Amino acid sequence: GSSAATLEEIPALSRSHFPLCMKHLYNSLQSNNHLRHQGRMQFGLFLKGIGLPLDSALQFWKRAFAPKVQGDKFDKQYAYNIRHNYGKEGKRADYTPYTCMKVISSTPGSGEYHGCPYKTFSESNLRATLQQLHISGSDQKQVVELAKNHHYQLACGKVFQLTHNGVVADEGINHPNQFYDLSRQCCS
Ligand code: SF4
Repeated sequence: GSSAATLEEIPALSRSHFPLCMKHLYNSLQSNNHLRHQGRMQFGLFLKGIGLPLDSALQFWKRAFAPKVQGDKFDKQYAYNIRHNYGKEGKRADYTPYTCMKVISSTPGSGEYHGCPYKTFSESNLRATLQQLHISGSDQKQVVELAKNHHYQLACGKVFQLTHNGVVADEGINHPNQFYDLSRQCCS
């Protein structure tokens, strides 16, 4: 694995090293000051996987939710689950971050932001998102075609290449934390 992430680094890490599924959850959390359960699981376990310690995770979610949920309510409704994901509550299982297969197989409802954007985004939304990553023209077309043909992980691998100076993820993308680790190794 890569070195542990700190709370303060998360915005920059998101910009440079998060795969689209996690950028989307992070951005949605920032703009809504909330994420529903599945989103918190997908993103929270990813953050654990990048080495964010439990106390930083508690602070991170507390800050993000603060405009909407505070104090006791936060502690009662959310803190337990965060500790749970770190194996500190309940049966103390050590929950592992979701694989791409698991992320892709989930279906977000309205007001939910988990899942894989290459599958869940409309074509126009995907195009706009790629544009923001400075992916345009025939490259954009190629990614959109892969997504349309249900090759979500290949689309993600192509985006990795296009946003990492042409570096190819040799074994493909099969885990959001693998995307992150490769990204940090190649292009810190
Ligand atoms: Fe995330 Fe995997 Fe989808 Fe890439 S292919 S956006 S890492 S779920």
